[in-house]
Amino acid sequence: MAAERIGIVGGGILGLAVARRLGQVRPDAAISVLEKEQDIALHQSGRNSGVVHAGIYYAPRSLKAQLCRRGVGLLRAYCSEHDLPYVECGKLVVAVDQTEVERLRELERRAEANGVPGVRWLEGDAIREVEPHVAAVAGLHSPTTAITDYRAVARALRSDVESAGGTVRTGAEVTEVAPDRETVRVTAAGETLELDRLVICAGLQSDRLARKAGDQREPVIVPFRGEYYRLVPERESLVNGLVYPVPDPAYPFLGVHFTRRVDGGVDVGPNAVLALAREGYRRRDVRLADVRETLGSAGFRRLARRHWRMGLRELKGSALKAAFAAEARRYVPELRTGDLVRGVAGVRAQALDPDGSLVDDFRIGRIGRVTAVRNAPSPGATSSLAIAEYVVAEVLTDG
Ligand SMILES: Cc1cc2nc3c(=O)[nH]c(=O)nc-3n(C[C@H](O)[C@H](O)[C@H](O)COP(=O)(O)OP(=O)(O)OC[C@H]3O[C@@H](n4cnc5c(N)ncnc54)[C@H](O)[C@@H]3O)c2cc1C
Repeated sequence: MAAERIGIVGGGILGLAVARRLGQVRPDAAISVLEKEQDIALHQSGRNSGVVHAGIYYAPRSLKAQLCRRGVGLLRAYCSEHDLPYVECGKLVVAVDQTEVERLRELERRAEANGVPGVRWLEGDAIREVEPHVAAVAGLHSPTTAITDYRAVARALRSDVESAGGTVRTGAEVTEVAPDRETVRVTAAGETLELDRLVICAGLQSDRLARKAGDQREPVIVPFRGEYYRLVPERESLVNGLVYPVPDPAYPFLGVHFTRRVDGGVDVGPNAVLALAREGYRRRDVRLADVRETLGSAGFRRLARRHWRMGLRELKGSALKAAFAAEARRYVPELRTGDLVRGVAGVRAQALDPDGSLVDDFRIGRIGRVTAVRNAPSPGATSSLAIAEYVVAEVLTDG
């Protein structure tokens, strides 16, 4: 019997993790990852906060809650086996007033329901023992929240795929997907490949690829740029580990936070500004086709009507460094605007339902021989090895 041919669109952390897992479960299959850029992990997987989330935020029993918890264990072991950075620097989520204290209590309940180990409720001096420069009414401390380098993890996954006989082709943009009863024909870099199965892990382009494969139009991807500032080296001691505000439950992003990096630096961010290009990392990047698609979606118009105030606040923070610093100063009062220098930016692929709600959970679906990851925002990198197990079980289920 001829070897099964399985293709994966996207050489981000998810595509590579799926390819590695397929190689473990189907060692005889011919596995190829098709990546449009000249290198792997150039988009979300290489432009994120580097946090290994412990599972505090997610609705119990959601895919995010389950795959994040499983993903942490798998990633921790993977980093140790492959000599990759993994530092349990801990995270403090802080409430600065009474409304936030109530929301923080809800996070405490979620953390417990999700089985996050070691989480402690802190007040007064106990907060200052963990983070001396933080001012807060209460804090929730997760000592096992960690940091890593997801681009390095992606490189290790690529090397695993290749050592197991799979291929990772860069500069191979998939432009056509034509599934039928027996095969899936895929055009990549002008060449047509005949496959038995296809997995789409295309991040910011995932809705477009899924539609080519015959999936429904919605959810569409709305790109949200996240801009970071960096603390100047002499102020890196303002935080020991990770310091986060209590997130707004109406909004899936976590709010401007302090993130220690594995290189020792500290980033402050990211904000969440509507991007005018899906892969646009500078404020001046505009791609008309992307803008038209966003504005043309009924879901986006509903979202904009509901959240325009928040949108304006984020735009102000993007345009004015002082406004960005003011956000972070709510819980680290000693921060001065001059302590911040501009850092990197990433763009989140956030799926949006037609009713204007931002899809909160991971969304993974099947269209015949094609499996499509349609929403994998944070904690997607943390959960990558567990998402790979889930996707591969889905791919290999007949029917
Ligand atoms: C600012 C920011 C901060 C984040 N922070 C964290 C964090 O701290 N912790 C965490 O767990 N998660 C975090 N995330 C989320 C995490 O980065 C993502 O969940 C994860 O990287 C998704 O991986 P991916 O492989 O699906 O996407 P990507 O890395 O975006 O990969 C998709 C790939 O598909 C390729 N592609 C697209 N179209 C085609 C095509 N037609 N043909 C071939 N290739 C194609 C792209 O070039 C790209 O390489 C963050 C994300 C952002 C943006």
